[in-house]
Amino acid sequence: MLFFALFFLYLTFPNISLASDGGEVVDETPFTYEKTTEKGPLGWGKINPKWKVCNTGRYQSPIDLTNARVSVIRDQAWTRQYKPAPAVIQNRGHDIMVSWKGGAGKVMIRRTAFKLVQCHWHTPSEHTVNGTSYDMELHMVHMSARGKLAVIAVLYKIGKPNAFLAKLLKGIKTVATEEKNVGILDPREIRFQTKKFYRYIGSLTVPPCTEGVIWTIVKRVNTISLE
Ligand SMILES: [Zn+2]
Repeated sequence: MLFFALFFLYLTFPNISLASDGGEVVDETPFTYEKTTEKGPLGWGKINPKWKVCNTGRYQSPIDLTNARVSVIRDQAWTRQYKPAPAVIQNRGHDIMVSWKGGAGKVMIRRTAFKLVQCHWHTPSEHTVNGTSYDMELHMVHMSARGKLAVIAVLYKIGKPNAFLAKLLKGIKTVATEEKNVGILDPREIRFQTKKFYRYIGSLTVPPCTEGVIWTIVKRVNTISLE
């Protein structure tokens, strides 16, 4: 019941500023993942007043997926309607991002449409399962007409190659801070098992750490090759 109450609260008070990149910072802003420095995650909230919630927020991401905030849902709870669209790749300093220009489709969650904006990768994974982190985590960032965010995440461990990443590999290796065309990219090529998902309400995992983000994490861990 508490979960539904919180969910309703967040749906009622959208507080996310609109940005073409899905609300995350784009430039190489001075934050790092070094835990021991002032610019590390424990200090993010002090770098910029707008990032305060990074350290004071109660519903921050990432979390361990065995957390009580997380529920396991089945595929019927949401639908994906993706389509191929022109895309660009860009190095944001803290990660590599692929953004779609023009409509790449959407997901429907509780009758709200969230358009696919961009995807990017984190190594190692940000979410953990029972304390275990994986080799990589993909985030597909979606935004509703009212500026609400929904992120679909896929966890990967080293194993068989991943077709979507293999296609982008050349671009990833040579990308700079300027946007570079990668042609038409079909989000459906990001394949994952669609039986069970973790769902919880959290935040962006990089500054400004905005809360009210609907997280959907594919339960089955996928594979990528070491390249
Ligand atoms: Zn991310």
